[in-house]
Amino acid sequence: MRRKLVAGNWKMHMTATEAVATVECFIKEIGSKDSADMVICPTFLSIPKVRELTKSTKIEIGAQDVFWMPKGAFTGQISAGMLRAAGCSYCIVGHSETRGRFGKLEIPAETVCHFGETDHTVNLKIGALLEHGIRPILCVGETQAERDASMTDAIITTQLEKALHSLDPTELDALVIAYEPVWAIGTGKVCDSLEAERVCGLVRSILEDLVGEGLARTCRVLYGGSVKASNAKELFSQPNIDGGLVGGASLDPKEFAAIVSSA
Ligand code: PEP
Repeated sequence: MRRKLVAGNWKMHMTATEAVATVECFIKEIGSKDSADMVICPTFLSIPKVRELTKSTKIEIGAQDVFWMPKGAFTGQISAGMLRAAGCSYCIVGHSETRGRFGKLEIPAETVCHFGETDHTVNLKIGALLEHGIRPILCVGETQAERDASMTDAIITTQLEKALHSLDPTELDALVIAYEPVWAIGTGKVCDSLEAERVCGLVRSILEDLVGEGLARTCRVLYGGSVKASNAKELFSQPNIDGGLVGGASLDPKEFAAIVSSA
């Protein structure tokens, strides 16, 4: 039986002071409820404060990105070892925003190219995280243009194959996958629950081919893209959807607590 997991991706929102207030409110809202595993992914700067506040709770901390080298002359980067030392037990990898696939948003070309994420760097990041005992939350998903061209299944297959390339299946127990259709992220356009269920089921069958039936059965596959308290229950009740990766709605502690409660 897979335990549900709900992770909040705060993206580039909130100062450390604002993060503290939000987490305090979330802790109050959630009380002693224990319906799902909970992860908050604040900005790097807020991780220590949020970790301090959540230490005696069941809330775990995730980072939003990582650099794969252990240390060195890599200005501006943060390693998996540093995240572990700061108390992170999860890290998002290959989010469509770091992959530069911003969906429908009007983003200047220089911003789209800024992050330079590729399937290969996603693969290196997963390897570094696993080495440090951090659970990668690997994001995969198609853009609207790719969906319109009936390329969804092929895109998901390629992203998973390349992300997991040459990683040891026996070390992948910690892996979490989030199906995040790019067109649903931050747009208010949630994927139909049956279609989200179909793609999450597809993720599981691709995993079966890549890493074996055991891991395909136990790996948690989340849905992400405009999840709110009003649609979470239907999404999370699908057999192959093991919870959610939540962006905008995780910034509101009451809304996020309601989403967790639906899991
Ligand atoms: C995300 O950032 O991963 C996400 C799913 O965002 P939102 O919930 O705002 O669509």
